[in-house]
Amino acid sequence: MTAPERQPLPPTPTEDAPLDLARANEWLAPLTAKERIEWAVDTFGDRVLLLSSMQKTAVVLMHLFHELGLSNEVLFVDTGYHFFETLRMRDLYMRRFHLNIVTLYPATTTEEQEAAYGTKLFNSVSGQPECCRMRKEEPLLAHLATKHAPVLVNGLRRAEGGKRANIQALGPDRRTNGYQLSPIYDWTGAAVQDYIAKHDLPVHPLHAQGYPSIGCYPCTTPVQPGEDERAGRWRHLRVLSDQAPQYCNINFSDGGGI
Ligand code: SF4
Repeated sequence: MTAPERQPLPPTPTEDAPLDLARANEWLAPLTAKERIEWAVDTFGDRVLLLSSMQKTAVVLMHLFHELGLSNEVLFVDTGYHFFETLRMRDLYMRRFHLNIVTLYPATTTEEQEAAYGTKLFNSVSGQPECCRMRKEEPLLAHLATKHAPVLVNGLRRAEGGKRANIQALGPDRRTNGYQLSPIYDWTGAAVQDYIAKHDLPVHPLHAQGYPSIGCYPCTTPVQPGEDERAGRWRHLRVLSDQAPQYCNINFSDGGGI
């Protein structure tokens, strides 16, 4: 039996010949997550950056960066409202896996923000987008603006459903004129679990306490059996309004935050 023929490698993009996204995605589809990251680093070098939330999927990607011996930046946005356990995960992965973790900070402390607005923005449907913008999106975009056409690696998966159900391995990021790479876009939740078990990776302790999705502590609660994985995010706003958010917009696809 002969091995299936591989598509030709997409050419390295240049000023005159930008990347053909459709062809790149065709080529990336049959590869493993590790091969997708390798291709990105071979093609874009240190413009490849991993955005890590320190949750389960980020652990998989951080471990792949470690296995590949990459010194590419792993970005962690410290909103000032993280669970203590999240910060401890950041430090653990930095020390144990020797990752080049870069912590990004908002322009103001949480105390300064609360004093300036006279309120905790995350407590209202109208204030939350501004809080997420200032504490997550702004520090990330300010850092990405220092790079030329960065490739931001994320842990988004189609199996998460919603706006994520149709993502490709590689998508454009019009915020930066760069790309978003989702190396595990076709993994199931079970595949993530299997990878973590196989490599005996430390995971965020709150996952075992009923938190499948972990963000800032004021906006994250555990989920009950049968609830959606993201039901614990911004629950306090969802009981106030059907306009409450599902995503903080730090990830990007198809012209919008996911
Ligand atoms: Fe603010 Fe909540 Fe967004 Fe964190 S998740 S930045 S606390 S609104």
